[in-house]
Amino acid sequence: CGIVGYVGKHAASSILVEGLKHLEYRGYDSSGLALSEGNDIEVIKKTGRVAVLAGLAQKRASKARMGISHTRWATHGGVTDENAHPHLSWDGKIALVHNGVIENYQALRTFLEGEGATFRSETDSEALANLIAYHYARRDKNDAAHNPLVSAVRQSLLHVEGTYGIAVICSELPDEIVGARKGSPLCIGVGQGENLIASDVAAFVGRTQNVVYLDDGQIVHLTRDDFTITTIGEETVSPVINQIDWKI
Ligand code: GLU
Repeated sequence: CGIVGYVGKHAASSILVEGLKHLEYRGYDSSGLALSEGNDIEVIKKTGRVAVLAGLAQKRASKARMGISHTRWATHGGVTDENAHPHLSWDGKIALVHNGVIENYQALRTFLEGEGATFRSETDSEALANLIAYHYARRDKNDAAHNPLVSAVRQSLLHVEGTYGIAVICSELPDEIVGARKGSPLCIGVGQGENLIASDVAAFVGRTQNVVYLDDGQIVHLTRDDFTITTIGEETVSPVINQIDWKI
């Protein structure tokens, strides 16, 4: 239902929780976050209120400066901790949050299980996390021209039917977030020495007024100092930065 991602110089955990609180008005049944710690991804997720997640996150006191988070409104799979997002791929390398519905998830799941993937949830979303990990593992390591996570996301989305707003991180790329959308909103908050991604500009309140709206079929690559938008068809997109006036 709601997505917030952050990459910058401050501790990500409290910024993500704060962002999720601004999205609570949309309704949800669970929430969670994934934090990039060195070459590890730590996932904290729980059914219930964001306040519960906030308590768990505070206890961990993570200093990670990058992460993604989600409030879930279940469509596929019951309201359980395992079905909450983020979903970590079976090899532990990819974490994904997803809004929308992956219609062909059953076929993707069957294919991926045949390739050795295992699943921990009943969601449609986990199929996409594992598909991205599958393509990431098979990336061309001699291809210096393309970002490996962007390529894995692009390859995966070519095989997905349905709607999505996603934010994805990789344990081997601790300073990068990749986002993409089709039929589900996503925007970028452009800050100074930090960048954010969210399903709704409300998540950026108090951090930045500079917003870029993504269009369907676009993929964004975010680092703390930069962002690049391309299409699934690999065209470059020139971003338009809008100024949000919070008083309106
Ligand atoms: N279809 C996904 C699920 O049920 C995402 C739901 C959402 O948009 O929050 O987990």
